[in-house]
Amino acid sequence: MSTIGFIGLGIMGSPMAGHLVGAGHDVTGFDLSEDALARLRAAGGNTAGGVAEAVAGAEVVATMLPADPQVEAVMFGEDGVLANAEPGVLVIDFSTITPQTSRKVAREGAARGLRVLDAPVSGGEKGAVDAVLSIMVGGSREDFDAAAPVFAAVGKTYELVGPAGAGQVVKAANQLVVGGTYALVAEAIVLMEAAGVDAAAGLDVLAGGLAASRVLDIKRASMLARDFRPGFRVDLHHKDMGIVLDAARGAGVAVPMGALVAQLIASARAQGHGGLDHSALLKVAENLSGRDR
Ligand code: NAD
Repeated sequence: MSTIGFIGLGIMGSPMAGHLVGAGHDVTGFDLSEDALARLRAAGGNTAGGVAEAVAGAEVVATMLPADPQVEAVMFGEDGVLANAEPGVLVIDFSTITPQTSRKVAREGAARGLRVLDAPVSGGEKGAVDAVLSIMVGGSREDFDAAAPVFAAVGKTYELVGPAGAGQVVKAANQLVVGGTYALVAEAIVLMEAAGVDAAAGLDVLAGGLAASRVLDIKRASMLARDFRPGFRVDLHHKDMGIVLDAARGAGVAVPMGALVAQLIASARAQGHGGLDHSALLKVAENLSGRDR
């Protein structure tokens, strides 16, 4: 069992840190939000007053932060991980950020003797709560093997997909497929409702055929009920579609479906839905057909 410093105890980080406590690790967490710290204490973890304190004495440092600027601040700040973790420490960044920033953290971390993995996750809040996340990992085989007990405590499927930054590329591919699936399910709901058929029964049939997906499985009821509590916020998916388009440009490939999905998510945000779950793409599909509720 390891001593773990966990930075970023939000929708995803909070249950993940709780599972690490449950697996017997000694977890000290830090977050800017007092509520988040209280949740970790209630789950049996310790809390710190800053990043340096959370990292002191840790064998593993895990981070689960919103985006590149927060990861840069937590990694590279004076009070941050690189300046305060002991050489040899395993740094596992679960955040979804650009491959470039992951490679920079790995490079500068290695220069200080740290072993860095990018390990973005998929599975949503439910996957985090149920400890069944899919984890796509970039880094070395040796560090991946060393991190296996941490991955096993929070996830079900975890794969080493290449060197530093590779996990973020696979996560970008994941967000492309998830965003596109939401957009299509939203259009299917608008079509069925406008045509006067039983949309709930219709989605049940879709979920049993070739159109089946995890999105249909776990989100069709809440979408039909127009329950858009997050979950995964539109603002974060907007950030991820920026990563998708940037990664595609970097790889020299065209992703026209991705570009369209990025615009639909941008529209959701522009209409003031940035704080809602990304299933609120249904509101954009309704708006396009003059069927706002
Ligand atoms: P969140 O906003 O709920 O949590 C982020 C937490 O980081 C917040 O509690 C915030 O206070 C904390 N934080 C920000 N800056 C900090 C700092 N400098 N020091 C300490 N704490 C700081 O976000 P989330 O939904 O948990 O997502 C986290 C990451 O996981 C994102 O990159 C997101 O894209 C990714 N992700 C989310 C989901 C999901 O369904 N929510 C699924 C897969 C991946």
